[in-house]
Amino acid sequence: MSALLIRGGRLFDPASGVDAVGDLLIRGEHIAAVGEVEARGDEEVIDAAGLLVAPGLMDIHVHLREPGQEQKETVATGTRAAAAGGFAAVACEPNTSPPRDTAERVEELLEIARREAVVRVLPKCAITVGQRGEELSDLAALRAAGAAAASDDGFAVADAALMREAMAAAKRAGMPLTVHVDGPEMVERDIGLAAEIDWQVHFSHVSLADEVELIARARQRGLRVSGEATAHHLALCRADAPEGDASFKMNPPLRSARDRGVLRVGLSAGVISVIASDHAPHSAEEKAQPYEEAPPGAIGLETTVGVVWTDLVHGERASPETIVRAMTAGPAEVLAVEAPALRAGARADVTALDPECEWTVEPERFESKARNCPFAGRKLKGRATVTIVGGRVAMREGRIVELGAAA
Ligand SMILES: [Zn+2]
Repeated sequence: MSALLIRGGRLFDPASGVDAVGDLLIRGEHIAAVGEVEARGDEEVIDAAGLLVAPGLMDIHVHLREPGQEQKETVATGTRAAAAGGFAAVACEPNTSPPRDTAERVEELLEIARREAVVRVLPKCAITVGQRGEELSDLAALRAAGAAAASDDGFAVADAALMREAMAAAKRAGMPLTVHVDGPEMVERDIGLAAEIDWQVHFSHVSLADEVELIARARQRGLRVSGEATAHHLALCRADAPEGDASFKMNPPLRSARDRGVLRVGLSAGVISVIASDHAPHSAEEKAQPYEEAPPGAIGLETTVGVVWTDLVHGERASPETIVRAMTAGPAEVLAVEAPALRAGARADVTALDPECEWTVEPERFESKARNCPFAGRKLKGRATVTIVGGRVAMREGRIVELGAAA
């Protein structure tokens, strides 16, 4: 059995109440010991002095583009980008080509992931057939095939009756719902449905102050409602986007400085319990079109940790607890999966971060196939330096460890 000793890091798992300098011992696919560790001497050692050793980060809003748009990204390149950015698991949106709306397509994706992914891949499936908002997908079959959540990301399900049906079917199937947020009206409608049907709903890429306030009130009422913010909506506002630069064209768009401020407060208050990248790769040709025709979306897997650490932890004195929780226990709760944790017996998904590492964003060096990054050229402080997935080192010091390489 392979063994890995992560030595002398600040072990940091807010959800488990762990915050102390110590060692972490991994044997095989699981954490064997935390804190005071008895090493045997046969372990591969990673010196973690000065690093924050956290549970493996999760990003539950990622576009991997396979199948159908492999010129933008693939499972292989997208998960390499995830590992490079410190993410041990990603949940990928179903708006592939064709959309992931059948059990076979979920199984296909899981098969590709088994072969090619360097981090865990949790497939989302479409709420409606073809993501057309007309007819419900077979959520029970999709769940049985391994879908982690249902999402019509890119579109809101406009038909309220269909959305009510979707929520009832999701409840019967035990399927988490992550919905595309398209203004406060839809948020209000879906909170109402969540209350009526007594099921959970997660709001993807929340960006407006009014949306944050609606979610805050729903949570106060005890509803199972959660919100997610992207790193770009937390870091940037409309005024930061150079005129006509399609790297800053997103859906939802960048908002006002006030909206960004409320989003940050919502994160600190726990109303926004998830930070995600909404990693949305596009080819250079597509983004080079005139602004109006260029597709919306920005890549983010390789910048999210650096951006939130720079702008929120160093810049705004946000607590590292809030940030780490929003990339570990928060997203795990939304998908109702076991949260990554620094605890003996837990699955060995671990991310080490260097909070003081200064680096410059150079998209041409990214693992992602895409370069549509609004942070290009920015100097950041904070970076993931080790990603471990199920006891296997997937990334170390920015280098991806190839699948099949000796552990
Ligand atoms: Zn998206």
